[in-house]
Amino acid sequence: MWTVCDRVELTDATSRVDGGPQPGNRRPAPGDLELVQTFLNSRWDLTSRNEEELASPSAVSRWLVEHGLFDHRHALTESDRRRVLEVREGLRTMLFVNNGALEDPEVVARLNRALRVPRIYIQLAAADTPEFNSEPRDLDGALALIATIVALSQLDGSWSRMKACRGRECGWAFYDYSRNQASNWCAMSVCGSRAKVRAYRKRRRGPAT
Ligand SMILES: [Zn+2]
Repeated sequence: MWTVCDRVELTDATSRVDGGPQPGNRRPAPGDLELVQTFLNSRWDLTSRNEEELASPSAVSRWLVEHGLFDHRHALTESDRRRVLEVREGLRTMLFVNNGALEDPEVVARLNRALRVPRIYIQLAAADTPEFNSEPRDLDGALALIATIVALSQLDGSWSRMKACRGRECGWAFYDYSRNQASNWCAMSVCGSRAKVRAYRKRRRGPAT
């Protein structure tokens, strides 16, 4: 059984999360959000050649074990994998909205369809924070946990700082720690400067003839 509490890190899952290298040496997202961020950035394996980490059902199962969301490997199918990717890319759409993009309602609808299997139950305590529990630790439970972390983060306001980089073909998930919440890029040195060069060249070329 695993548990997520408001402002209390996951007892076992989050402690195992290591988001790996971050562009521009950004600090990873705080608390449980680091798990969500690492999930979003599983699209690129920065330790190899930026390949998709969740490239097969068995890779998804391995990832969920490595990140404490499964306690052992489950035999997943290709449709399970697609469901996981729909959740991941639906969340990324929300992060693009946090970074100024318009919402794509279809992607968000797919995200919510993928989440429509309840697996969380809540235990209350008179003098403590509520606990969100799930049994068994299967794919439904893993996705429900991720959705719960997102929901709590939306309620406490931290979600608006989770953004997807605007860089062309980027979309890296980062947490915007800046005081005025004005970061647009995963790293100014990587994506920001490339976008600036493109804008500069466009201006130099002037209007198309
Ligand atoms: Zn970027």
